[in-house]
Amino acid sequence: MCGRLCRNISYLLCSIKGALEIIDGKAKVVNDVFCDGLGACIGECPEGALRIIEREAVAFDEEAVENHLEKLKEKEKSTHTHQCNCPSSQPIVFEEIWEDSELTGEIPSALRQWPTKLTLVNPTAPYFNNKELVIASDCSPFAYGDFHRKILRGKPLVTVCPMLGLGEVELEKLEQILKLNPIESIKLVLMEVPCCQKIKIFLDPILQTIDRQISVEETIIGRDGSIIQNRKI
Ligand code: SF4
Repeated sequence: MCGRLCRNISYLLCSIKGALEIIDGKAKVVNDVFCDGLGACIGECPEGALRIIEREAVAFDEEAVENHLEKLKEKEKSTHTHQCNCPSSQPIVFEEIWEDSELTGEIPSALRQWPTKLTLVNPTAPYFNNKELVIASDCSPFAYGDFHRKILRGKPLVTVCPMLGLGEVELEKLEQILKLNPIESIKLVLMEVPCCQKIKIFLDPILQTIDRQISVEETIIGRDGSIIQNRKI
């Protein structure tokens, strides 16, 4: 039995294809027709939770896999239209008129690096040689008006959309950034919507691979742009 969250790309691919599922903490083949028998998931599982057993099975059906993936794509599309119940896609209009605060003049950018997207950054870039790191979900700097002054100032930044842009490449990169640099604390800036929280599922297993204590503080931004929570996790 494996209690860890699985980041094994082969497992993830098999589960997306519909061949594997975690049931009561165990990875199980749930659909023989979706399993090509390659066994790529076996060797990569660090917990040894997957193994081959001999039994009668329905033959692999590539066409069934294609159909299944097509259906998944359609489902994904339909759950992210404005008609779904997902709070992140429900339209809201904020009526309040934007007004200048007492600050005068142009607010300078606190950004000290380029690029910022997790997909694009180089983990060995000199700007990561810092004790603090900001990980911000793509929407949060737009929602929180004082992002540069109150959060970004003096810190390196990576930005990512936890729902649409967090895959194996990004997770590997985040792990490298944390391994190769003296980062001791992470400021996680997320929107309040459930899809944005997904990054926390993956962050914990990554932190466990780092032989240094890294504290994480999360700031949750409401859809109206206010800070609704600030806490250590
Ligand atoms: S997951 Fe976060 S960053 Fe991505 S679309 Fe949803 S609110 Fe925006």
